[in-house]
Amino acid sequence: MSFADFGVRSFVPDSQVGEFASHLRQGKVMASRCRDCGHVAFPPRSGCTNCGSAAFEWIAIDEVGRLVTYTRVEYGPAGFEAELPYVLAIARFPLGVTVFGQLSRELAQTQPHVGMPVKLAARLLANNRASYHFVQP
Ligand SMILES: [Zn+2]
Repeated sequence: MSFADFGVRSFVPDSQVGEFASHLRQGKVMASRCRDCGHVAFPPRSGCTNCGSAAFEWIAIDEVGRLVTYTRVEYGPAGFEAELPYVLAIARFPLGVTVFGQLSRELAQTQPHVGMPVKLAARLLANNRASYHFVQP
């Protein structure tokens, strides 16, 4: 599985952190952590935005985060028609990462609110693709 298998629609075919999709397929949502300065990035990055190092390791985002904001999408872009309607959200996690993604269908049917606790979960899509979404902890 490569980065081309990530998400509802791939906007880039490959990435130096292509294993990201493989981790999702194994049920793990992973970030990258710089081996030199400890900076954590999500989506994972092979080049540290803090110190420029190319040395990184994978770490799981398996903690509880908090919803920062959200919006309900009724008319999505090309490639997302089958997902409609859905809720896009941003959540912050204690690791220091801010994550953009969809709420799970189950969570979207509740009353989302700022500050709501969420976890990240891997999600398998049609056509054997993988992604992640926010779920209830
Ligand atoms: Zn660094």
